[in-house]
Amino acid sequence: MFSSIHEECGVFGVFGVEGAAGIVRTGLAYLQHRGQEGCGIAWSGRDWSVRLQKGLGLISEVFGGGVPDGGDSVCAIGHVRYGTSGGGEVENVQPFVFRRRFGDYATAHNGNIVNAGELANALSTRGSLLHSSSDSEVFGALFGECRGGALSSRLLGPVLNQIDGAFSLLVLTRDAMFACRDKYGLRPLSVGRLGNGYVAGSETCALYAVGARDVRDVRPGEIVRISAGGMESTQYSSFTQNAMCAMEYIYFARPDSDIEGINVHAFRKECGRALFRESPCGADMVIGVPDSGLSGAMGYSEAAGIPLEQGLIKNAYVARTFIQPTQEMRMNGVRMKLSPVGSLIKGKRVVVIDDSIVRGTTSRQLVRMLRDAGAAEIHMRITSPPLRYPCFYGVDISSRNELISAHRSTEEVCRFIGADSLAFISEDGLLQAGRRSGLCLACFSGKYPTDLYSHELE
Ligand code: SF4
Repeated sequence: MFSSIHEECGVFGVFGVEGAAGIVRTGLAYLQHRGQEGCGIAWSGRDWSVRLQKGLGLISEVFGGGVPDGGDSVCAIGHVRYGTSGGGEVENVQPFVFRRRFGDYATAHNGNIVNAGELANALSTRGSLLHSSSDSEVFGALFGECRGGALSSRLLGPVLNQIDGAFSLLVLTRDAMFACRDKYGLRPLSVGRLGNGYVAGSETCALYAVGARDVRDVRPGEIVRISAGGMESTQYSSFTQNAMCAMEYIYFARPDSDIEGINVHAFRKECGRALFRESPCGADMVIGVPDSGLSGAMGYSEAAGIPLEQGLIKNAYVARTFIQPTQEMRMNGVRMKLSPVGSLIKGKRVVVIDDSIVRGTTSRQLVRMLRDAGAAEIHMRITSPPLRYPCFYGVDISSRNELISAHRSTEEVCRFIGADSLAFISEDGLLQAGRRSGLCLACFSGKYPTDLYSHELE
């Protein structure tokens, strides 16, 4: 549901292109949906020293006056943050820059390290100080312990093998950019060519927006090193898995992004088709909840032969509801964000396609709005299975108590939200919709791809 799950973060990098920092700024703007709390860019020019600008707020707020590199940067990495680990202070905004004898380097990370506490304790025992409460700083601190000169794939590999959890990581050094992905493949990361240089980022929509070509995914357990000599691949882990976060397809990613060869809009549309096959319903119209329910609504409508209508209009200029601190304000926020088209809906049986139900309060508000607008029947169809478990990989689903489906049956949830019927897509339906044999489904099934550590089991 649009109001209750928070995106994690986004990373973007450019190597070997004049004005790299400005290009990263553009790329980050296409990833803004992944984080609005803060952003930053680290860049280097011909002198190879790494400089940094970061702040709290949107790209337009932090870099409203342009990037301060004077256009002389040739390499840069950037980050948009939604804080799933650490606090909301500017110290936790990435990239992090480290200055060591072997040279400066910067890191930008999307995901969550599940053994960050254990690694941070070990670092402090060895005398390494961490300056933020973000798990992402652990990468840079561990890299700083590397012996043997400038950072290389050979030195990074053993460090990455110690790190458990989700990461799509960019590292900028004095003469290279590294794009690294965790061995489970939990978060997306792609690389491509840009002019005579290279580009890397969380979603392909951002890569294509700056003009990239020959785009490919970084594989689970892979380090891609990009330098003046070109692009080299190293597989740092012999164990790999295809456990891409299902919520990337269902909700987080932009519909014009391709993740592991599958277009996000096409995936969502297939989910809508699968939902109709699993839970058909007679109705006069299908409507999608903007934005991530719209593709699924198209699929449901096509499969059912029921007209698709734009029955809900989103007010794009009202702040996102999740920044509202109380439940009452969140509910008001929902009413401000969406408006039903009464003349379309009045007296009609409607199927409403949404991406997920978290607390249930937003869905209840939505159903009430549609009833007030005169809908005769409201049938909710959800393109994710019921959310029942917390996520430890960078998505803000932190407690089972927040999840209405954790302790209630589908019928009970249906009664709570006040719909005439409710159905969720099955886990099999989801996998088939994406033609995938593997996805992380842990927040639905409780089966986590990684080990869990003491703080997750509390
Ligand atoms: S637990 Fe859920 S939200 Fe977290 S990575 Fe897995 S599928 Fe994504």
